[in-house]
Amino acid sequence: MLATPGTPVESHCPYCALQCGMSLTPRAGAPGTAGAAVPGVPEVQPRDFPTNRGGLCQKGWTSASVLGASDRITVPLVRRSLLTGADHPTDSADGFAGSAGWSDRPAGSADEARRVSPLVPVSWDVALDLVAGQLAGIAAEHGPEAVAVFGGGGLTNEKAYALGKFARTVLRTPNIDYNGRFCMASAAAGMNRSFGVDRGLPFPLADLGGAQAVLLLGSNLAETMPPAVQHLAGARAAGGLVVVDPRRSATARLAGDPASGGQAGANASAVGQAGGSGRADGAGAGAGAAAAQGVHLAPVPGTDLAVLLGLLHVVLAEGLADRAYLDERTTGFDDVARSVAAWWPERVETVSGVPTADLRRVARLLAAAAPVHGGTGAYVLTGRGVEQSTQGTATVTAAINLALALGLPGRVGSGYGAITGQGNGQGGREHGQKADQLPGYRKIDDPAARAHVAAVWGVDPDSLPGPGLPAVQLLKSLGAVDPEGVPAPGRPRALLVHGSNLVVSAPNAGGVIDRLRSLDLLVVCDFVPSETALLADVVLPVTQWAEEEGTMTSLEGRVIRRRAAVRAPGEARSELWIIAELARRLGAPETLAFPTDPAVVFDELARASAGGPADYSGLSHARLDADEADGGPGLFWPVPAQAEHVSDAQVPPVTSASDTSPTALHPGTPRLFLDRFGTPDGRARMVAVDHVGPSDDVRPDAPFYLVTGRVLQHYQSGAQTHRVAELERLVAEPYVELHPVLGFRIGVPDGARVRLTSARGRVEATARWTDAVRPDTVFMPFHWSGVGSVNQVTTDATDPISGMPEFKVCAVDVSMVDVPAVDVPAADALGRRGTLTKELST
Ligand code: SF4
Repeated sequence: MLATPGTPVESHCPYCALQCGMSLTPRAGAPGTAGAAVPGVPEVQPRDFPTNRGGLCQKGWTSASVLGASDRITVPLVRRSLLTGADHPTDSADGFAGSAGWSDRPAGSADEARRVSPLVPVSWDVALDLVAGQLAGIAAEHGPEAVAVFGGGGLTNEKAYALGKFARTVLRTPNIDYNGRFCMASAAAGMNRSFGVDRGLPFPLADLGGAQAVLLLGSNLAETMPPAVQHLAGARAAGGLVVVDPRRSATARLAGDPASGGQAGANASAVGQAGGSGRADGAGAGAGAAAAQGVHLAPVPGTDLAVLLGLLHVVLAEGLADRAYLDERTTGFDDVARSVAAWWPERVETVSGVPTADLRRVARLLAAAAPVHGGTGAYVLTGRGVEQSTQGTATVTAAINLALALGLPGRVGSGYGAITGQGNGQGGREHGQKADQLPGYRKIDDPAARAHVAAVWGVDPDSLPGPGLPAVQLLKSLGAVDPEGVPAPGRPRALLVHGSNLVVSAPNAGGVIDRLRSLDLLVVCDFVPSETALLADVVLPVTQWAEEEGTMTSLEGRVIRRRAAVRAPGEARSELWIIAELARRLGAPETLAFPTDPAVVFDELARASAGGPADYSGLSHARLDADEADGGPGLFWPVPAQAEHVSDAQVPPVTSASDTSPTALHPGTPRLFLDRFGTPDGRARMVAVDHVGPSDDVRPDAPFYLVTGRVLQHYQSGAQTHRVAELERLVAEPYVELHPVLGFRIGVPDGARVRLTSARGRVEATARWTDAVRPDTVFMPFHWSGVGSVNQVTTDATDPISGMPEFKVCAVDVSMVDVPAVDVPAADALGRRGTLTKELST
C-alpha cells in the first residue's frame, strides 16, 4: 500500500547492516505518489532507532535520490538477436528511453551474433517466456546443474528465501550462492564452529556503550557506518578503544594516542567532517564527547592472526585468563594454550611489526576490562579487514579464543561479535540462498533439515539437491567453454543474477568477466545498467527499497520492517513476482506455491525456519508492525512460535505499559549464549589455529602490499552511490593511498597517475600521499569499474573452510603511468609542498 503524500513512512536505510532508522515522506503532489507514473523521491529524515539514535551518514541522507536515477531501467530488455520476428519491438528503435551510454555486449561470447546485438525493450511476457524457454532447454540438454543462481546480501529476507526455494525446487540446481560469501563467510564459519550459532552480533549494538574496552579488528566503522561510532564512546572515555588496522583510518584515529592529549578534538572533528557534509551526523553524537584514548596497532597486512595469537599468549603467560569460565563454559582450552605458546611477543613483533610493549599493553587493557578482574566489560569485534583472508576463519577463531580466555562471550556487557557489512548480510545468509543451507540456517546435508523444509514446500526431500559450489568456485566454473575455449561439459551455462554487480565486486574481476561472457544465457535483475547488466542477455527491471515491503535482519539479528513509500517507475517489478512468473512458466505445480505478497512469503519462511538455529516462527509482518507501533525495541532471532523459559537478561527492556502484561509470545533473544552456547554440549569450542600468511605475499616483482576498502561516500560496487550527484562530487574517482616515503622512493608524486600490477591484472588511479598507510603498503577503495577497478588485481584465492576470497591483501608492483620528463610539483597530503624530480626517484 502506498503512502499518502506528506505522511511519513517509517523504514530503514537501504545500504549497510546498521539499518539506520529513517522516515520517508512522499512529497505532496510529487511523482510516484498515488496516480503518478514515474518514480518519486521521498524526503528522508533520520529517526530514533537503537542502532543510529537519530543519526545518518551521507549515504543515508541522500539514499532516496537513487530512486529517480536518470538511467533507471523501467522495462525488460533483451538482446535483439535472441528475439523472433514477432517479438521485436514495434517502434524499431534499439535500446530504450535514456539508453545513451549503453554498450553492446563486448567480445568474448560463444555466440558472435548475440554478442554484438543491442539490448532492446520488450514486454514482460516476451522476456519471461524467453528466459524460461532457454533455462528449460539448457537444463534438458545439460542437466539441472547447468543453471546457476547468484543472489545478494541486500535482498530482503523474503526474496532470499524465495530465490533459494526456486533454485532447489523448480530449477533443481545445487548451484546457488550469493555475494555474502565475499563478506561474511569466515565470520559465519568461525562462529558456527566455536559457538554453534552464527549471529554477527549476539547482543544489541547498544551494549557496547557500557564496555570498558573494545578491541576492533579490521573494521573502519567511522567511514562504513558512522552512526555506530557513538556506541564506542564509553570505551574511548575509559581509554579502552583498540583498533587493529594497517592504515590509520578514521576509526584508528578515534583510538588516538594516549601520549597525545590534544588528539581528541581532532579525531571528533575528522569523523564529523567525514560523516557530516554540513548535516547532523550520528558519528558525532557521543563520539565527540569522549576523550580519544586507546591504542592503534598497525600490523603488516595479512598478519592480524599473529597479533591475536600473541595477545592470547600474553593473557595466559601473565595469568590473566578467566579460569573458572574456561572450565565451566568451554572445551579445547589445553590445545589452544599449547598452540599460542609458540607466539611470544617478540616473535609476533618480528612477523607483524607490532611492538611487544603494545601487545602487552593491549592484553592487559582487555583483561582489566573483563568481568573476572572487576572491569565493566570488554568486547572483541572483527570486520572484513581480518576476515577477507585465506586465513579468515582461523583469524575469527583466534579472536573468539581470546574472548573466551577472558570470559567474555555469553555474558551481559561483554562478548565477541562480527560486524556485518551488507544491508541484509545477516538475513541473507539465513534463509536459503547460500550454497550449503536451507531456511532457518539449516544445513542442506542434514536429513532432518531436508525433511522439515521439504514438508513446508510440499516436495519430496530426496528431490532437493545437495550442497552447491561456493561463490568464487561457482564463478570460476561458469561457461559453455573453459578458459582455454574448449567446450566444458558439466559446467553452469546459464546464470541468474539478483542483487549483485559481479563485474566490479568479485575478486580477480577480469577472470569473472571472461566467465560471464562465455555463458549461453546471462539474466540480470537490476534497477540501473550496472556493469554486470551491460553484459547480460536479458535485463529485468526490479523495484527498490522504498518501493517495496519486506523485512531485513540487522547486524544484531534484529528483524525489521522495510516499507513502501512510493510507486516503482515504469514496469519495474519485485523479484518475488519475477520468481513466481518464471516458476509458472517452468511448469511448477500449483502445490508448489510462490506467493508474491511479502507478508505471505514471510509466513512461509517463518514455518520453514521453525526449530532451526535462526528460528523466525514466532514472527510475522503484523507482529513486527505491532511491536514497532508499541514502541518496542524490535525482535531478535531466535523467536520461536511458542514462548519458553528465557532468562531475565534476554527479555527486552520494557518500553511501554503494555509490555508489562504477561504474553504467550516469545520475546525474542537480544542476547545469545547467556545460559549455553549452541553446540551439542552447550560449551564453546576453542580450536587451535596457526598463522601462515597471505596467499599472495610480497616478492621482488610485486614488492608492496595492496589493501582494499571503502570510503564513506560510496557503497559496494557504487551502482547506487555513483548515481547520487552529492556523493559523486565528494569522491568522484578512484585513488591509491601511499606513504610519502614510498612515493619518493619509487618516484610517484602526490597527484600522479599510478599503476598497480599484480599476477592477475593491472589498475590505474590517482596517487594520494598520506602518512596514514605503512610505507610498505598501498590502499585503494573498491567502488569503481574499468581501469580503476581494484578487483582486477585482487586474488581469488579462498579460505579453505569458508570459501571467502582474500580481498584484503595481495602483492603488487607500483609504478607511474606516465613518467614525467621534467620536475613535477608535488603537493603532499601532509601539508608540505615540494618539488619531486625524476632524479630523486632514482
Ligand atoms: S550507516 Fe549504513 S545504514 Fe546508516 S545511514 Fe549510513 S549507510 Fe545507511
